[in-house]
Amino acid sequence: MRKKIVAGNWKMNTLPAEGVELAKGVAAGKSAAGECANLIVCPPFTHLHSVVETLKDSGIAVGAQDCATEAKGAYTGEVAASMIAALGCKYVILGHSERRQYYGETSETLNKKMAQAYANNLTPIYCVGENLDEREANRHFDVVKAQIEEVVFNLSDEQFRNLVIAYEPVWAIGTGKTATADQAQEIHAYIREVLRSKFGAAADDCSILYGGSCKPSNAAEIFAKADVDGGLIGGAALKAEDFLAIATA
Ligand code: PEP
Repeated sequence: MRKKIVAGNWKMNTLPAEGVELAKGVAAGKSAAGECANLIVCPPFTHLHSVVETLKDSGIAVGAQDCATEAKGAYTGEVAASMIAALGCKYVILGHSERRQYYGETSETLNKKMAQAYANNLTPIYCVGENLDEREANRHFDVVKAQIEEVVFNLSDEQFRNLVIAYEPVWAIGTGKTATADQAQEIHAYIREVLRSKFGAAADDCSILYGGSCKPSNAAEIFAKADVDGGLIGGAALKAEDFLAIATA
């Protein structure tokens, strides 16, 4: 049985003290939501330590939003996967569309980051998704297929068993536009089929999350679809109440 997961991507939001308050809010209201899904929060690097401490024993996991391509050394400003893992984080988001779009991340970069994540026992939450032009040109299937083939297909069977995928249409991120539940199901089922072509039945155990303007009012319908195993939540993850309402959905 694949896991239901709801992960909050806080992006570059909250000061450290605010992040701790948000984490406390999530932990305090967790009971019902925690029975519905595995909860993960992904704060900025600067508060990973304090949020891990705050959520100790809460059952809520912590992830980073990115990691370096290299293990260590003269890479000013970078944060190594080993450093993230040493803080007690279990996950790392890789290939988020904002990283691809604003920081030029390519499949080549992401292959290195994936290797660093696995070498440090972090579970990658690997993001894929098309932009608006690609969707309008009906190229969304090809785009996500390439993003998977160029990175996920390089994983071993064992690594694949420890991977979460997030499908996030770029046109739906932070825009208030959401894929319909049927659009989400269609592409999630397609992603699973692509994964099955390489990894066989293990594809059925891979959690594929939906992300893009997910909120308490639309989560239930999207999450009810057979191949949607939860969500990666941006804006709505910044309010404990909304994040928990989404997880309960
Ligand atoms: C995201 O960027 O991962 C995301 C899903 O953002 P939002 O929920 O704000 O659209």
